[in-house]
Amino acid sequence: MIILRTAQEVRDHVSALHQKGKTIALVPTMGSLHEGHLYLLREGKKLGDICAASIFVNPTQFGPSEDFSRYPRDEEGDLKKCAEASVDLIWVPPVDEVYTFGDQTSVEVIGLSKMWCGVTRPSHFRGVATVVAKLLAIFRPNIALFGEKDFQQLKVIERMNRDLGFGAQIVGMPIVREPDGLAMSSRNAYLTTEERGRALCLYRALEETVKLRNKGESNAALLRKVALAELNRSQAKIDYVAIVDPNTLESLEQVVGPARLLIAAYIGRTRLIDNIAL
Ligand code: AMP
Repeated sequence: MIILRTAQEVRDHVSALHQKGKTIALVPTMGSLHEGHLYLLREGKKLGDICAASIFVNPTQFGPSEDFSRYPRDEEGDLKKCAEASVDLIWVPPVDEVYTFGDQTSVEVIGLSKMWCGVTRPSHFRGVATVVAKLLAIFRPNIALFGEKDFQQLKVIERMNRDLGFGAQIVGMPIVREPDGLAMSSRNAYLTTEERGRALCLYRALEETVKLRNKGESNAALLRKVALAELNRSQAKIDYVAIVDPNTLESLEQVVGPARLLIAAYIGRTRLIDNIAL
């Protein structure tokens, strides 16, 4: 596995690979890798001739009062896991390889960034879209893989890739869960044992809503009610529970075609998100 630090090294390597006709699958991450990330890396290995990854805790996607400084970091462990997942090339840049002092350019997907997580985290998706645009420009991947765990993020990136014409194929991957159903997330490490137990209410809320939907209920207000009750039972502080069109992320009143249930809630101080197809 080739470990690179500078953007220029990445450009040089990918140019050589593209010249040889190799396809590149890219998996961007913020590190602290878990099975969810490893699933993306293994799939990347299958989809591209070369599986490339990045580990970068992106400061611009954290708000001023968010957890940037305490976000879990484990470069040594992550590199070992990447090597075991047969990653070919990994970029682990210092912040000044990605952002230069006085940067004047950022990328914003106007509509999709303002709703749901964008309400509580107003600059989050600008940070995400900007860093992913930089990654797509530097790696020029044929394919880039992202998890459905961050469903709104996936939609923002698909839109940005389309609007700016990067030409990468954006592939969304299903959510990897712990055996009891909790969606894997680097932020689960923040949960105390008691909170870890309560955190399962997000998964239960998804499951109960799907059950009701499968019985034929199509009224979104009634479907939401089931999810809200499950979250309230475990004293989750609800940020939002939304039933949306999976492409536009607009709220639905009736579920007739494809729909997605999106949940964001705090368990203690930890903000968790999860979602499922209805
Ligand atoms: P992060 O390191 O949290 O920025 O995540 C890097 C990538 O892994 C993103 O595309 C996430 O959506 C994806 N990811 C994170 N957790 C999971 C999970 N539990 N299942 C599938 N993909 C995930």
